Amino acid sequence: MKIAILPGDGIGPEITAQAVKVLNALGERFEMDTAEVGGAGYAAHGHPLPDSTLKLAKDADAVLFGAVGDYKYDGLERALRPEQAILGLRRELGLFANLRPAILYPELAGASTLKPEVVSGLDILIIRELTGDIYFGKPRGVRECPDGPFKGQREGFDTMRYAEGEIRRIAHVAFQAALKRDKRVTSVDKANVLETGQFWRDIVTDVHKEYAGVELDHMYVDNAAMQLVRAPKKFDVLVTGNMFGDILSDAAAMLTGSIGMLPSASLDANNKGLYEPSHGSAPDIAGQGVANPLATILSAAMMLRFTFGLTEQADRIDNAVKHVLAQGLRTPDIHEAGSTRVGTEEMGNAVVAALG
Ligand code: NAD
Repeated sequence: MKIAILPGDGIGPEITAQAVKVLNALGERFEMDTAEVGGAGYAAHGHPLPDSTLKLAKDADAVLFGAVGDYKYDGLERALRPEQAILGLRRELGLFANLRPAILYPELAGASTLKPEVVSGLDILIIRELTGDIYFGKPRGVRECPDGPFKGQREGFDTMRYAEGEIRRIAHVAFQAALKRDKRVTSVDKANVLETGQFWRDIVTDVHKEYAGVELDHMYVDNAAMQLVRAPKKFDVLVTGNMFGDILSDAAAMLTGSIGMLPSASLDANNKGLYEPSHGSAPDIAGQGVANPLATILSAAMMLRFTFGLTEQADRIDNAVKHVLAQGLRTPDIHEAGSTRVGTEEMGNAVVAALG
C-alpha cells in the first residue's frame, strides 16, 4: 500500500503531518514517501508539479495531498502557479470522479449558517465529473461575433460537451457509491435548456437499468441549488457535471459550517485516488499551528475506504473524529462558547488517542 504524501504550501504541511500520524497509528503497513508540490515544488525544482513528484504520484496507489497556493507566487505566469499542480495531477492520473461528502456532525450544528434543524445530521455525497464539460471543451476563446445585435464585436465563447463514455463512467461511480449508502441518486443537469443536459439525463437513465436496487431521480441545477439550502437532508448521492458540481459542492461545503471539516477524493477508473481536504492552503493562518486538520484526516479515511478497501480502519478514523468532537475539542475555525480550543497538533494527537 504505497502512498505519495504531497503536503504542498501554507497549512498543507501542518495538516498532512496529522493525517500521516493517524495512518501510522493504525498498525497497517503503508509505504509513505513525501515530495514537494505547488509553490514548494516551484521553489525546489522550478515547477509546481516537478517530474520527480509526478513519478512518485504515478507509482503510488494513492496520493494524500495537502493544499497548494501562496500569494507570493501570484506574479508567476499561469503555467508555473502552484494551483497548476492539482490540475496536472488530475489530468496525468486520469482522476475523473470527485467525491465530496458533506457531513454535519450534530456537535457542530451551531457552526452552520442554516438553522440547526435543517442541517443537523446532514450526510450527503456530491459526485462531480472532473475532466470534461465546458471547462475543457473545444473550441473556446475570444473571436469576432459573427451575427446578431453585437455582430463585429469581440465575444468570448466556450464549448459544453460530454461524451457518452464519460457520462457512463461517472454514473457508475454514483450508483456504486449509493449502493454503500441510502441507495438514492439524484442526477443534476439542465436538460430543459441544454442539449448536453438532455444527453446526460438519457445516459444516466440508461446506466440506471443496471442498478435495480438504487432509486434515481433527476433535478434541474437551479432547483438543486435551491433544495440544497432548503432541505439538504433529503439528498443521498448527488451526481453532476464539472461546472454544476464545482458550484454545488462549494454550496454544500458551507452547509456544514467550516471548510476545515470537509474531505474529498478524486478517483480514476481503478479506484486509485488523490485525497485532499476541500479547502486551500489558508496562507492567512499558515505556520500558526491553528489549522483544522480534520478534513485531511477524514480524507485519509476516504483513502482507506475507496482505494484500499480497509473499511474497518476507515470507520475507526471516522469514529475517532466523532469522538474528539463529542469531547468538545475544537480548532479556532469551529470553536464555540463552552468548547475546548486546541491547535492543529493537539487535534491530531486527540484523534490518534481516540482510535482505540
Ligand atoms: P482557503 O480555503 O485557503 O481559505 C479560505 C478561508 O478558510 C481562510 O480564512 C482560511 O484561513 C480558512 N481555512 C481554510 N482551511 C482551513 C483549515 N483547515 N482550518 C481553519 N481554517 C481554514 O481559500 P483561499 O484563501 O481562497 O485560497 C488560499 C490559497 O489556496 C490560494 O492560493 C488558492 O489558489 C489556494 N487553493 C488551493 C486549493 C487546493 O490546493 N486544492 C483549493 C482552493 C484554494
